[in-house]
Amino acid sequence: MAKPTEPTDFIREIIMEDLRTGRFGGRVHTRFPPEPNGYLHIGHAKAIILNYSIAKEFGGKFNLRYDDTNPVKESQEYIDAIREDVRWLGADWEDREFYASDYFEQLYQWAVQLIKMGKAYVCDLSADEIREYRGTLTQPGRNSPYRDRSVEENLDLFARMRAGEFPDGSRTLRAKIDMAHPNLNMRDPVMYRILHVPHPHVGDKWCIYPTYDWAHGQSDSIEGITHSICTLEFENHRPLYDWFLEQLGIYHPRQIEFARLNLTYTVLSKRKLLQLVREKLVSGWDDPRMPTIRALRRRGYTPEAIWLFCRTIGVAKQDSVVDIQLLEHCLRQDLNKSAQRVMAVLRPLRVVIENYPEGQVEYLDAVNNPEDPAMGVRKVPFSRVIYIEQDDFRLVPPPKYYRLSPGREVRLRWAYLITCREVVKDAATGEVVELRCTYDPATRGGNTPDGRKVKGTIHWVSAAHAVPAEVRLYDYLLTIPYPDELPEEENWLNYINPNSLQVLTGCMVEPSLAAAQPGERFQFERLGYFCVDPDSRPGRLVFNRTVTLKDTWAKIEKSLQTQQADEP
Ligand code: ATP
Ligand code: MG
Repeated sequence: MAKPTEPTDFIREIIMEDLRTGRFGGRVHTRFPPEPNGYLHIGHAKAIILNYSIAKEFGGKFNLRYDDTNPVKESQEYIDAIREDVRWLGADWEDREFYASDYFEQLYQWAVQLIKMGKAYVCDLSADEIREYRGTLTQPGRNSPYRDRSVEENLDLFARMRAGEFPDGSRTLRAKIDMAHPNLNMRDPVMYRILHVPHPHVGDKWCIYPTYDWAHGQSDSIEGITHSICTLEFENHRPLYDWFLEQLGIYHPRQIEFARLNLTYTVLSKRKLLQLVREKLVSGWDDPRMPTIRALRRRGYTPEAIWLFCRTIGVAKQDSVVDIQLLEHCLRQDLNKSAQRVMAVLRPLRVVIENYPEGQVEYLDAVNNPEDPAMGVRKVPFSRVIYIEQDDFRLVPPPKYYRLSPGREVRLRWAYLITCREVVKDAATGEVVELRCTYDPATRGGNTPDGRKVKGTIHWVSAAHAVPAEVRLYDYLLTIPYPDELPEEENWLNYINPNSLQVLTGCMVEPSLAAAQPGERFQFERLGYFCVDPDSRPGRLVFNRTVTLKDTWAKIEKSLQTQQADEP
């Protein structure tokens, strides 16, 4: 028996127990069952990683199955995007890519079997009537007037439904269970509806489609899934799935529910994400402010960071909202190890080093990643005119401001110490447009042989060598941490952050980035992690800020630890 390498949780405990008792003959087989009606998001990543890593840890199998039961909302675009995103996350379904729609014939035959058993009937009530007959949590439902149709009549009508004789919405096939059942899902749920709509995977073969409830459990059964892991909202569908499988007398997987992922400042409902795209509040599904997998990818997230996040949050039985700063913390942990440091100036201020010879260029050593010596050293050109960050100069420095100001000395990262001698202002606006500085030739590499202390170190780029770039900075798309907890009458779209995207043009990056390709990630020293955007063209670099360097979560964690240490 394989042993899990991951920290254990209630789901893995259940699986280990099933392995001990031999419930599934020692097999573990999981799946990720997306409905191809939207793009995958970070919540789906939790489900994918959970199912895939469980299969892996226990030496089992993992399927990708499209639960494609509603052609009205599904499309090939979504199917392809899901495949790409699951693959990018690193979950490998080998050759087991399946579709619930490939089981439609089997599902149809099983429906016929239920009709023959007197356990399903064709109902002529409209959708509204069905809802009205259904009753409420406090009131039992009423039997449909069509409930007692004979088996023969039901078989005939169901066959004619399939043959396309009836218009959309005119009839359904329903399970015959109990209209007074305390669980509303058991009150004669609909199994088939008529929809004269072609299907993205099976074309125009069908004009009746199974409901998700009728398709899902049987699809898991057909695939021999041992543990049908799903989110909590399916807990009260479980009795129905059990009922179907028992009536049919077929292989019965074990369903286990866990709490879905919610994140602060984020909406994860497909309906709401679609709304953002349709109403053009974002540029598309991959807008780097979206919580979709492809948006995270474009923003610069790595699969490793997402895995680390999912491992860190674990799984629980209780719904909760995870602080988005934890996700960012995991991202920084990964990028800190893997991203090369470079220098880039987002809001350039021109600096002329008056005592540096005109036309001279020096190539100085810069360490690529202090966390990883194996990443080596690169050469950065230094010359008489450089750019520094506007923010790294103040005419009147506030207390504890250790960067540049008139008469002050500062260290240029990897280069020299410079002193500000003169400030050039725009005659009309009074704006600072240039600094005149001198450098100390004895401080090459930023060292001070005389031992003098210089607190501030700032980044810079050589003006003659710098490559222009556009940089896009992001903030959360929403201004409130718990958008899903708004009262009914409040429109969540009123809380869209108008400043979630800031585009900086005229940025200057060091020349080693000239040929950077979309998807490449860097740390811009002191500014954060950045990723080359697919909008980049040769000669027109575009970067997304993936995440800032400031790690609030690490601070919180540290203060928690010291608090705990302080406790007697
Ligand atoms: P909808 O918004 O239509 O309810 P969904 O997000 O549930 O859609 P599915 O395609 O049905 O989308 O999801 C596929 C799988 O991902 C399901 O097993 C579902 O339980 C799981 N899943 C979806 N959202 C989350 C989430 N936020 N956290 C964890 N798992 C999720
Ligand atoms: Mg769903």
